[in-house]
Amino acid sequence: MHKRISINTALPGKAKSRVMIIYTGGTFGMTYDATGVLIPFDFSLILQQLPALRNLFLDITVISFDQPIDSSNIQPAHWKMIGEIIFENYQEQDGFVVLHGTDTMSFTASALSFMLPGLAKPVIFTGAQLPISEPRSDARENLITSLEIASARENGQPLVPEVCIYFDYELLRGNRSKKVESMHFDAFRSENFPSLAKAGVKIDYNLSAIRKPDKGSLRLLTTFCSDVSVLKLFPGIESRTVEAILQTVGLKALILETYGSGNAPSAPWFIDTLTKAIKKGILILNISQCPGGMVVQGKYETSKFLAEIGVISGGDMTLEAAVTKLMLLLGEFEMDQVKRKINLPVAGELS
Ligand code: ASP
Repeated sequence: MHKRISINTALPGKAKSRVMIIYTGGTFGMTYDATGVLIPFDFSLILQQLPALRNLFLDITVISFDQPIDSSNIQPAHWKMIGEIIFENYQEQDGFVVLHGTDTMSFTASALSFMLPGLAKPVIFTGAQLPISEPRSDARENLITSLEIASARENGQPLVPEVCIYFDYELLRGNRSKKVESMHFDAFRSENFPSLAKAGVKIDYNLSAIRKPDKGSLRLLTTFCSDVSVLKLFPGIESRTVEAILQTVGLKALILETYGSGNAPSAPWFIDTLTKAIKKGILILNISQCPGGMVVQGKYETSKFLAEIGVISGGDMTLEAAVTKLMLLLGEFEMDQVKRKINLPVAGELS
């Protein structure tokens, strides 16, 4: 179902490490066809595009999605495929690089961080703002450095045993990252957590920020429940809008994107609508619209009532982490457990 391509860039028996590239699609792998239209390129030709791969002395295996996709089409079923590829090849590989479109990369990286408890090897997501076939493409640097990071070890141990995004000379924790830019090369940012590494002449690792691996062996969780929704508040939002979303058939959880440190309008209709939904059993999670800082329910009058009616604080989680964590928890656990687990850190996503 997936294509498997082997690219051994090392002399026989001399590979420094084994790294698996999982190619899912995105701008990274685009090339122009004879008519000038961008189409996914044949990954077996990667050495032509990127001869410098040979100098890494790695044993690289590429698993390519049969049909590479634009990441705007990514679904939980694709997260499951990526998780299964990592899980099935975990023992033989020293690390993984996932090539993915930038649009939803932070969602997929967050999802994977929750799906793989016990992860003790690097899973580095990267992509590009310009196709690899473009002379000024950022694809080459992003891939080469991601491969270096995925294979980096100290005293025999992987240096970065967690799910990350490497992009434009910076390594970020996947579930702390956010796409913030669609034109410039610095597409991702992590407001609430420091970079895990910066790549210059050498790669400078921020060792104290890198997560220690979980105890126990790797597990794979793949059951997602999509009965979640997100409501971004704005001044003037109508009661019928809030009611309609909370009356969605089958809705189990709503992420309320609030202002500042978790504040919301204190109009009686708003409090009432949320209270009724919570009484019906819908989980409401408070995530701020601000990329930096955190939700502190009760700091202002305009958030005190949220805590009182049972809205759960999402702390400093990104929206991407909150959505994927909720979907996985709802798929894997009963509601009372989901309510207990949602604001406890599981993969470094929460301070
Ligand atoms: N639309 C593309 C995607 O996310 C953009 C990119 O790859 O940067 O697949």
